[in-house]
Amino acid sequence: MQESRILMDTLVSINVYAAKPTDESRFTGLRRTIEAAFAEMSRLDSLFSSYRADSEVAKLNREAAIAGVTISNDMDSVLQTAQWAAQISGGAFDVTVAPILRLWGFGTDSLGVPAPEKIAARMARVNYENLVIAHDMVNQKNSVTFRQPGMAIDLGGVAKGYVVDRGLAVLRRAGIRDAMITAGGDLRAIASPLTVGRRYIWIQHPRPANLDSTAGSFFGRFKLEDDAAVSTSGDYERFFINDNKRYHHIVDPYTGYPADKTISATVVAATSIQADALSTALFVLGPERGMALANSLPAVEAVMIYKNGDKLEWEATKTLQKKLEVFNR
Ligand code: ADP
Ligand code: MG
Repeated sequence: MQESRILMDTLVSINVYAAKPTDESRFTGLRRTIEAAFAEMSRLDSLFSSYRADSEVAKLNREAAIAGVTISNDMDSVLQTAQWAAQISGGAFDVTVAPILRLWGFGTDSLGVPAPEKIAARMARVNYENLVIAHDMVNQKNSVTFRQPGMAIDLGGVAKGYVVDRGLAVLRRAGIRDAMITAGGDLRAIASPLTVGRRYIWIQHPRPANLDSTAGSFFGRFKLEDDAAVSTSGDYERFFINDNKRYHHIVDPYTGYPADKTISATVVAATSIQADALSTALFVLGPERGMALANSLPAVEAVMIYKNGDKLEWEATKTLQKKLEVFNR
């Protein structure tokens, strides 16, 4: 059974695999479970959205620079993972890059290259170390403070992953053993004997226009494990072109400009939120530092596609390299 919705500005699909239910009531049950997963995902989407004035993110962005703001457990989980990704990537992943993203207009209708002085002026507001999460164990309340005026966060690089994880948790709790949830470039699947060893992840070719069309539009594919999450960050989904230069939505927090060392980064990890944050982190780090980070993390696999002069090149972690079938370079 498959159902799709638009959530988080992207197409979200839930696929549940089961032997065809013989009685109508089980069928209705399955449908209700999928409904419940979408309801949970939609609730979370409204917490993490940067564009809704009533989201939890908007509240933090209005108030956390003034005083500590109490946060939900969901926000706590997302921010904990965001800070973990920031630490291990040396700040390449940084949710406090929001003031710069706004300047570029990503997520709005008014995209454009900002004046360099404007970027420079906002860089002081960007630093994940100035985002402080406090855990009050006694009252079981967590809160967030921004230590710089004008700071803001954008959860576009992690939230989708978390939402997918929570959607899958709803399915699991209802006893579903075989399912897949996709949300744009993020995916998580659990396999039962029905599908185990049969699911492939197909990596989109980032520059299909360069390809001989008979070869198809995929870079390659690999077999997915029984319970795994995959996320791809690329420069080819959300971007604009100005004076023949491509500007996309993943910004290097050290320069204030779109990161330009990578074309696409795909990460396999245990959870969707980890895969999501890491794919964005690797994208910013570029092939050299990105692959070094991926290789240093147990249970993380990655493949990165990047440009070397005019040529596209790719690199993968050891285990993935063995599984990866590359069709087009
Ligand atoms: P997509 O949303 O296209 O699947 P990603 O998961 O890579 O791609 O997330 C990109 C989003 O992450 C951007 O739209 C923006 O909201 C946010 N972002 C951009 N640059 C950074 C960064 N350096 N660190 C953390 N988040 C970022
Ligand atoms: Mg991401």
